[in-house]
Amino acid sequence: MALHLNQGLCRFLQAAPTPFHAVAVMVARLQEAGYQPLDEAAAWAPVPGGRYYVVRNQSSLVAFRLADNTALSSGWRIVGAHTDSPCLKVKPQPELLRHGYVQLGVEVYGGALLNPWFDRDLSLAGRVHYVDSADQLQSALIDFRRAVAVIPSLAIHLDREVNQKRSINAQNDLPPLLLQPTGDAKPEFRAILATQLRNEQPQLDVRQVLDFEICLYDMQAPALVGLQEDFIASARLDNLLSCYVALESLLAADGNANCLLVCTDHEEVGSATAAGASGPLLASVLKRLNEKLQDGSDDTYVRQLSQSMLVSVDNAHGIHPNFADKHDGRHGPLLNGGPVLKFNANQRYATSSESSARFRLLCQQVGVPLQSFVVRSDMGCGSTIGPLGATELGITTVDIGVPTFAMHSIRELAGSRDTVWLHTALTHFFSRP
Ligand SMILES: [Zn+2]
Repeated sequence: MALHLNQGLCRFLQAAPTPFHAVAVMVARLQEAGYQPLDEAAAWAPVPGGRYYVVRNQSSLVAFRLADNTALSSGWRIVGAHTDSPCLKVKPQPELLRHGYVQLGVEVYGGALLNPWFDRDLSLAGRVHYVDSADQLQSALIDFRRAVAVIPSLAIHLDREVNQKRSINAQNDLPPLLLQPTGDAKPEFRAILATQLRNEQPQLDVRQVLDFEICLYDMQAPALVGLQEDFIASARLDNLLSCYVALESLLAADGNANCLLVCTDHEEVGSATAAGASGPLLASVLKRLNEKLQDGSDDTYVRQLSQSMLVSVDNAHGIHPNFADKHDGRHGPLLNGGPVLKFNANQRYATSSESSARFRLLCQQVGVPLQSFVVRSDMGCGSTIGPLGATELGITTVDIGVPTFAMHSIRELAGSRDTVWLHTALTHFFSRP
């Protein structure tokens, strides 16, 4: 089970360098499992026992399974996670020609840990909008899948204090090298994308690339590491690990409860977007289902929500043995010690004593160990989509996640047994009406 799940996770992480790719891979998995697409722009006709999914902006996804014999009035079992990760994004006019090198201007997306981006074999992936020969706008995903860029470090000889003092200026220090042009060639990034797109998908009729959302990613494949393979090392474990495990849990659930998985983009930049967790995606899906499957009234809608529960899954900070004083002494989760319940008195996490007790009981029923995290009282606390879902819908919410190291690095680390604990807990949650 562990090996199977972790190998699947590693394949997913590699196939999903961007939120667009993550959603495309999840959609393929859902279709394989019999889930049907619902178009936000069309009328819906869902039936009890049906399995469906909705995509917005190609980067956010809601997938749900309606129970055969359990009415919506008994509420939803909802798991939420996010599809995006901090990264470097290519600017709209990215070409820089300096000292004979073509470099790319990049913006930092989210709270990226920048040091690990140096000296990596980097590739490019994302979404491209182009116009075809009939003057129609089209879009396609793109993934170069080879090392096409690199950000070399400055040698220690040119900065003797680097190990004590180097800081990173995102504007000056991060543009990656792309190539050394020959002759008078002036490479144009949109033309490079058009060529790549034609190579990747020869059936596409690409006249001209107009716009794009492209990010850089590390070519190093996800891997099980450690002498006993205790760890999983990869980019984007925050939060594709949660997306993957939650999706597999949804597919493994027994169908007795109405269950829903929501994976949204833009969490790393605050979620306040049309496709983000502060946007109307989840509420609009729930309202439309209430309209189709119940009487559509506010009364039944609020009653459904009051019977529902949201488990917001996002990675937690494990206690790092080299930096143990960054944790509260009684709240230092260990990798492979089980999922972490996240608490914050100031409600940066949505966990309440009621929601944590409910989740703790679920985990006890299936033998899953749980740990607790509270940030040190003299430090600020991160947040998740949990409080957003709770605020928007008024649903009882618990914030959990597997403990990790190096969150927001280009290569993060999680425990290879925690994925199984999480899968067991979420499958049980999805199976209990
Ligand atoms: Zn996260």
